[in-house]
Amino acid sequence: MTTLAMTIGGNPVNGKDSFAILNPSTGETVGHAPKATLAQLDDAVAAAEAAFQGWSKKSDEELAAACGAVTEKIGAHAEELALLLTAEQGKPLNGLGSRWELGGAQAWAGYTSGLSLPMKVLQDNNEGRVEMHRKPVGVVASITPWNFPVMIAIWHILPALRTGNTVIIKPSPMTPLSTLRLVELMNEVLPAGVVNVVTSDDKTGDNIGAAMSAHPGIRKVVFTGSCATGQKIMMSAAETMKRLKLEMGGNDAGIVLPDVDPAKIAEGLFWGGFINNGQTCAAMKRLYVHEDVYDDVCGALVDFARNIPVGDGMDEGSILGPIQNQAQFDKVQRLVEAGKTKGRVLMGGEPGEGLFYPPTIIADLNNGDPLVDEEQFGPALPIIKYSDLDAVIETANDNPAGLGGSVWSKDVEKAKEIAGRMQCGSVWINKHGAIQPNAPFGGVKSSGIGVEFGEEGLAEYTDIQVVFS
Ligand code: NAD
Repeated sequence: MTTLAMTIGGNPVNGKDSFAILNPSTGETVGHAPKATLAQLDDAVAAAEAAFQGWSKKSDEELAAACGAVTEKIGAHAEELALLLTAEQGKPLNGLGSRWELGGAQAWAGYTSGLSLPMKVLQDNNEGRVEMHRKPVGVVASITPWNFPVMIAIWHILPALRTGNTVIIKPSPMTPLSTLRLVELMNEVLPAGVVNVVTSDDKTGDNIGAAMSAHPGIRKVVFTGSCATGQKIMMSAAETMKRLKLEMGGNDAGIVLPDVDPAKIAEGLFWGGFINNGQTCAAMKRLYVHEDVYDDVCGALVDFARNIPVGDGMDEGSILGPIQNQAQFDKVQRLVEAGKTKGRVLMGGEPGEGLFYPPTIIADLNNGDPLVDEEQFGPALPIIKYSDLDAVIETANDNPAGLGGSVWSKDVEKAKEIAGRMQCGSVWINKHGAIQPNAPFGGVKSSGIGVEFGEEGLAEYTDIQVVFS
């Protein structure tokens, strides 16, 4: 049983009460997290404001070195954090699971530590000198979801620290333990108040996330989660003119052209759709396949999917685990049941024990069917047959989301031309969902505002000041 405190101003702080965290594989309680009060949020803001005075004045080299020390801490505690993550999130230790997530967190932290946004001279001549400086915005609030709690925390915290901001993070009530421990570890190498963590369960406690997005002491909110919550944050942030970075839901389309070799793309298609059990913002959530290869692609995908071991995340042999929580399970089940009335179930389709749901593939669906139109965020992939390429691009674009998309073809140039016509922030050719720390990642349309990663992502944590002399 893991019971952890919040970290506020470098000190361990308990809430007025606590809430239980369940292991999605077993339903057992794995630990407890504190329920923060609104007064404790005020304490965290005050601690982060006080720490900002010193932190924002550190040199570029000092900030880089401190972020490097955080990266080393994550590396040294990777296995401990991976075990905690599997216990509360359900994802397996192996495959693209907790150990992989910790590896990603360390890689992103290391890369971000090495980035820099030096002052730019825009003009230097007889008429004068113009310099563009990037300044930290102040106290940053990070609000994270339950699907990749450690990696997303790193995506939010490291660029904020690297640019001289201080942070208060609020993890999802489903998966707070790994973040509580992560921040505790960060505080072993950072000055007090630079990174703080508050937790709450949204239901019986104060809605700390909502309070953060309205708090006058917070200058920026970086949020990853659902579109509905992102919209609420945007509304409540207006009054205090906060900077916002919102990474919200996706409903990524994959388009398979008639020239593919079905057996060769089956593995990529599967992991594009089922990474983290489909509980991934930029997973492939709708697959459009040309009629000439439709049956063969469906067959090859099912052949690959049948061999994936699903089980308790703590079992070293598991490659996929359970759905993380009951609400998400219910949503997947509702969408699959609706899909079964119109489509053809190629595999899965019936719930397993507890929160386990087998990889499910349903063919012969169309736009207008709930499993195609709505973001399932779970292990259920709809397949849609098409005959006309121009029409299918329009069909793929006919969705409010615009996070990612993919094109599958032997003709990479043709695939790139199609990519240019897709309304989304990232397009992959012959793969889906691969991200890297030097490539900006973000959504268009309802999928969000702003980007993460690379210099463009780092710049989001700064305000520009131009000095004319
Ligand atoms: P969610 O929106 O329900 O919760 C996300 C976070 O917001 C949690 O920490 C929650 O406590 C907090 N929150 C709840 N109410 C709030 C409020 N009124 N104000 C501020 N914060 C509040 O999302 P979730 O269920 O945790 O995650 C699933 C969703 O997240 C999916 O739609 C998925 O596509 C999306 N997601 C997007 C990305 C991305 O990078 N675009 C990544 C992961 C998940």
